[in-house]
Amino acid sequence: MNELTGQWFDGRSSRALGVRLRLAMPGVLRVEDAQGDAHDWPLAEITLSPRLGSTPRMLRRHGHGQIECADSPLLDAWLPRHSSRIEAFADWLERRRTAIALAAFVTVLTTVGFVQFGVPALARVVAERIPQAVERHASAQVVVLLERSHLAPTQQSPDRQARLQREFAHLIQDEPRASQMQLRIVDAPGIGANAFALPDGRIYVTDQLLAQVGSDDALLAVLAHEAGHHVHRHGMRQALESSSVFLLAGMLFGDVSGSSLAVSIPAVLLSNGFSRGHEREADAYAFGLLERRGRSPQAFADMLRRLERSSPKGRAEGAAGYLSTHPPNPERIRAAEAAALTGAP
Ligand SMILES: [Zn+2]
Repeated sequence: MNELTGQWFDGRSSRALGVRLRLAMPGVLRVEDAQGDAHDWPLAEITLSPRLGSTPRMLRRHGHGQIECADSPLLDAWLPRHSSRIEAFADWLERRRTAIALAAFVTVLTTVGFVQFGVPALARVVAERIPQAVERHASAQVVVLLERSHLAPTQQSPDRQARLQREFAHLIQDEPRASQMQLRIVDAPGIGANAFALPDGRIYVTDQLLAQVGSDDALLAVLAHEAGHHVHRHGMRQALESSSVFLLAGMLFGDVSGSSLAVSIPAVLLSNGFSRGHEREADAYAFGLLERRGRSPQAFADMLRRLERSSPKGRAEGAAGYLSTHPPNPERIRAAEAAALTGAP
């Protein structure tokens, strides 16, 4: 067999013409149609498309259209072409289903791995380099949003406010980034019992949470945890993480709808909460801080237990509740009690 069959698209009519191809003489390809009409194509004028798996190959001749035919070693004998390395590699991949499946698997694995570990690691590095001005700017927007609709002046007595401020100042003194931390006590019936740290160091605690935690010791345990979020820059990190995931999803699925940092922060703080990793990090920081101030992490466990008791079972927590973002789960209580026993965070 030194003959091939193909379909000739001559570029003038849309109809394909069945043709037979053979070498008429050295250097000339004879193209013969069903009527027996022969056309001689000098090999030097023909370009052969690269081999790509089992896809048909194209012989193109300027001004004469192209002939499509099944791949065959004859084509390479007639028209030896120097395929580039990339073409050869693409062909090699195309021919190996396992390689394709493996490549798809590696892509998925890489993406998942990047989202799971790469994004948080990257967010940590980036967050550490974000200037304070950016943290302040992002936080200011959140504060405007919050204060307009949710926050009112606290109803705590001036004495209690002053005492809490003194205790908080004592708690965080000499801690990293302490100079940026400010305690804001607010009345927030719309938000309910909650505490949260903004990226610029403002730590909010609501009258509603004060009512639930009871003692100052318990409140300081909450504040130590929130200070941990600030020290570890969780606000910025979480915002960066969620925007990078959106961005990455956008890159993968072709829809880059920008979600700015400022837009994602309120959602992060009030509904999603921080990631479990961030919560554990803030807890561990809180245990260490309480001990450095001569307090026991037991206060932390007590606070969680008390919160648990004050939330009746089966009652749906509001999306904004402190308990929905800081579940007093047995794991956290155990960790606090272990820290209280061993004296280590
Ligand atoms: Zn937290």
